Amino acid sequence: MGNRVGSTSTPVGAQVHIVGGGLAGSEAAWQIASRGVAVVLHEMRPTRTTEAHQTSQLAELVCSNSFRSDDSATNAVGLLHAEMRRCGSLIMRSADANQVPAGGALAVDRDGFSAAVQSALETHPLITLVREEVPGLPPADWTNVVVATGPLTSAPLAAAIMALTGEQSLAFFDAIAPIVYRDSIDLSVAWFQSRYDKAGPGGSGADYINCPLTREQYETFVAALTTGDKAEFREWETNTPYFDGCLPIEVMAERGPETLRHGPMKPVGLTNPHAPGVKPYAVVQLRQDNKLGTLYNIVGFQTKLKHAEQVRILRSIPGLGQAEFARLGGLHRNTFLNSPQLLDGQLRLRREPRLRFAGQMTGCEGYVESASIGLLAGLFAAADALRGTLPLPPPTTALGALLGHVTGGHIETIDAGPRSFQPMNINFGLFPPLASMPKASDGKRLRGPEKALAKKRAITARALADLESWMSDVVREDGADGGPSASERAPAA
Ligand SMILES: Cc1cc2nc3c(=O)[nH]c(=O)nc-3n(C[C@H](O)[C@H](O)[C@H](O)COP(=O)(O)OP(=O)(O)OC[C@H]3O[C@@H](n4cnc5c(N)ncnc54)[C@H](O)[C@@H]3O)c2cc1C
Repeated sequence: MGNRVGSTSTPVGAQVHIVGGGLAGSEAAWQIASRGVAVVLHEMRPTRTTEAHQTSQLAELVCSNSFRSDDSATNAVGLLHAEMRRCGSLIMRSADANQVPAGGALAVDRDGFSAAVQSALETHPLITLVREEVPGLPPADWTNVVVATGPLTSAPLAAAIMALTGEQSLAFFDAIAPIVYRDSIDLSVAWFQSRYDKAGPGGSGADYINCPLTREQYETFVAALTTGDKAEFREWETNTPYFDGCLPIEVMAERGPETLRHGPMKPVGLTNPHAPGVKPYAVVQLRQDNKLGTLYNIVGFQTKLKHAEQVRILRSIPGLGQAEFARLGGLHRNTFLNSPQLLDGQLRLRREPRLRFAGQMTGCEGYVESASIGLLAGLFAAADALRGTLPLPPPTTALGALLGHVTGGHIETIDAGPRSFQPMNINFGLFPPLASMPKASDGKRLRGPEKALAKKRAITARALADLESWMSDVVREDGADGGPSASERAPAA
């Protein structure tokens, strides 16, 4: 083990080992050490690197330098920023200190950002940084471990996790189909029905939303797919096979004009109640994606089209003309767990609770989301080390909503087939509905964009109020150990 920094005073049994010094592992280390618990942070770079990382810095941003919107009143990721700041997040503190102009977005100087994270961790007296790969399951005497090795987890560790969990596959092309907000789908055109009215386990027989296409609409759609602008594969991605034969829709369209009509767009077993006498030439189906029923994914529509092209082409589908997307499709190599099955509510592996997971490998997507799950994993791990308990963050907060998605929010697939759990950015569809809809100042019902905005404001206000009371339930006014100051009040373990 080389390059140790810092010293520890916590008894060996109480210290926490973190594997992976990316966005999640760095935040987890900070949260744990801030609560007086010693941390050993194992990061394999520069000894061994990944296909995407370029430096040896902790918390390297592998692609864009943006943390997305910083608007905490009307944007879900902006709300997550606000909640993390209130929890004394190192990632947010370092981002704020290294901000570059980017309109309403929080974008950072990537080198300055990573250097700030690394310096805070290296100089913390309770953190020991070890530059080494953990090439398999962590040793048995590491009793409190956070695994945060990210979408590009090194092969030996990924193989060991696969063997332990019994998963068929961990590293594959993450075939993401677009997800649409349910309330942006036009049900005067689309309708609810399962194929042949089949209920299936957990279903009602009307579990899908169906969008009908005429022959002309279908042919125009297929032509748009074949000529649409596609994102390029990175060199290392070209060697990874497609997962479970999940071909992108544009690749299917290129195989022949009828391919999609015999695949995800087949029109069989469905009757359009808006025009019962007319057989649709093709049908696009959307399947419920979260327990709340606020999000629907477009079945079989994984795609590598550029995002603007996806929006343009998918809105040409009848019923989706005004569709708002919680997530657009994409394909890249990813490593993530089937977390709702494998992890408990505190991110521990059910089969081996000494192993807790954090970051993108738990099934969240994005820098901020990965760091936020690292923050929660850190709080839970510190609580375990101190033999305390930490209540879960309320599901009405962004932290709680994301944790809920990761540890159980997704529904099972209704059809037999590949699992439905897919990585997800934070979005308003993950929050429980409001108890009552906000009204205009004169008491009248709001409509259109005004209503949408008022709803978002009400959800974010509720989130921050609920976060506040969660924090006051568990708060400890400290700061003496280099952790969050009293004004940044963070939940204590
Ligand atoms: C190509 C690509 C582009 C992306 N672009 C974006 C983007 O533009 N915006 C965005 O928000 N998100 C993007 N993401 C997602 C992004 O990776 C995650 O959001 C974020 O970095 C994940 O954080 P993490 O801490 O889970 O993993 P990482 O930040 O990847 O950290 C994992 C760390 O674990 C280390 N590690 C791996 N295996 C081992 C081992 N066995 N032992 C010790 N250390 C190990 C790695 O070296 C790495 O430092 C992209 C992902 C990829 C793969």
